[in-house]
Amino acid sequence: MYDLVEIFESLQGEGRNTGRPCVFVRFAGCNLACPWCDTETKRKFSVGLEELAAEISTFRAKSVVLTGGEPTIAREMPELIARLKSLGYWIAVETNGLVAAQWLQFVDYVAVSPKMEFAGRYDPQTMLRSADEVRIVASGEDAAGFCREMKRLISAADYYVSPCDRGGEIDFATAKSVLSELDGWSLSVQLHKILGFR
Ligand code: SF4
Repeated sequence: MYDLVEIFESLQGEGRNTGRPCVFVRFAGCNLACPWCDTETKRKFSVGLEELAAEISTFRAKSVVLTGGEPTIAREMPELIARLKSLGYWIAVETNGLVAAQWLQFVDYVAVSPKMEFAGRYDPQTMLRSADEVRIVASGEDAAGFCREMKRLISAADYYVSPCDRGGEIDFATAKSVLSELDGWSLSVQLHKILGFR
């Protein structure tokens, strides 16, 4: 069974796949507790594999984003990935990168968003060391150092800094300041919040 918060269709709002129509599957539960987190992570319902695959199939998009919460702590993910692949889906995962789940190698796209508030919990031996994109929320001026450290530890094609959203106040100034200290990083905004879509 999968413990979920919600399933909905929308456009990807951030990172390299911005604008891509996707079915978002939000898993319940997280292994971090970011002070500015505005994501609902409490379980709303549970579904079995076939029920989940059938629900995803009711939407038009042929891309799926497995997000959270934190999808790498969910059970039975290899089975879900295999089922979605058999149905022809392009699969992306959004993770905080604390856990290098083996099954991530079977998805099409991994976006990792390490959290600087928990820098001490990112153990090079157990964390995710490779992804398609890295997105770090600039939740403090000292984020630049954390970004450099994560770039050293995680190989990826793209590295992004995102402004921190504290209860609807989007802090572009800190993101800009952090970016000015970095090489090879770009800005990723949460377009869905700015344009008002989900
Ligand atoms: S990792 Fe993501 S879902 Fe978990 S507490 Fe932090 S912002 Fe919220």
